[in-house]
Amino acid sequence: MIRIGQAGIPLSCKGRTNKDGIVYTHKSLDLNAIEIQFVRGLYVLSEEEAQFIKEYAQKNDIEIHVHAPYYLNLAGDHEEIMMSYEKIMKSAQMANNIGSKTLIIHPGYYGEYNSKKALKVIVKNAKKIISLFKKEKLKVKLAMETMGKQKVFGSFDEIIEVCTYVKDIVPILDLGHIHARGNGCIKTREDFEKIFDKLKPLRLRHYIIHVTGVLYENGNELYHVPIKKGDMPLAPLIDVILDRNLNVTLISESPLLEHDAVYIRLQVEKAIMKRTGKESAYYKDLSEVMKK
Ligand SMILES: [Zn+2]
Repeated sequence: MIRIGQAGIPLSCKGRTNKDGIVYTHKSLDLNAIEIQFVRGLYVLSEEEAQFIKEYAQKNDIEIHVHAPYYLNLAGDHEEIMMSYEKIMKSAQMANNIGSKTLIIHPGYYGEYNSKKALKVIVKNAKKIISLFKKEKLKVKLAMETMGKQKVFGSFDEIIEVCTYVKDIVPILDLGHIHARGNGCIKTREDFEKIFDKLKPLRLRHYIIHVTGVLYENGNELYHVPIKKGDMPLAPLIDVILDRNLNVTLISESPLLEHDAVYIRLQVEKAIMKRTGKESAYYKDLSEVMKK
């Protein structure tokens, strides 16, 4: 299955609440995933809005993810770690209330630590969070994103290591970040294949992927640009997904948000048509190109 959506309320959606955003994503865009952003401070949904979003998503088969506030540091000093726990738990409760599949976090900064030590500290603190999730009986999964700057913990390899040590954590493949951190390392089909090969030991049944164009310098992300303006190709990614029969959710994080989500959808449909030889395709129907 391929799910497609965007990170945030669509730009062309008149209403500016998350409730408006999910309805628009389904009704006007016919997309089936959304990442809700709790990134600027802590967005608090009313009980009524949370209930609506949960029911609407279930009824219309929309997959929800939630992004926690950006500033967290699971490798920081005591105070920063406590602040991170608090933000994560508050966001996780809310994410859980709206039926979100994941709560996506940025792990933290190396500070004085080397990669190995930072990994150790982050694994320890992530385990603590997982136990808090269990204690609160949250169904939402903690997810950790690959990060696009050298001073930030979260290279692709580091995120794989965290997920190896902490089984309950889901990796978020932010391809723009992996590409930027590797100074433009994703260029060909083989580069995408290598990414999925590396993930094999985690035995994931579902891949959550952030897609955007990105500008970078010396292995650091500068900013996001529209997919077509970036130098990471989209077609080979879609080919690998279809060839390997991968179950994925593709979230557009481009500044064009839903416009690029729809662009992803069109590229997926183009790839399906190429395979079936037919003149139309629908991204939700992969019956002719994939095994069930
Ligand atoms: Zn993020």
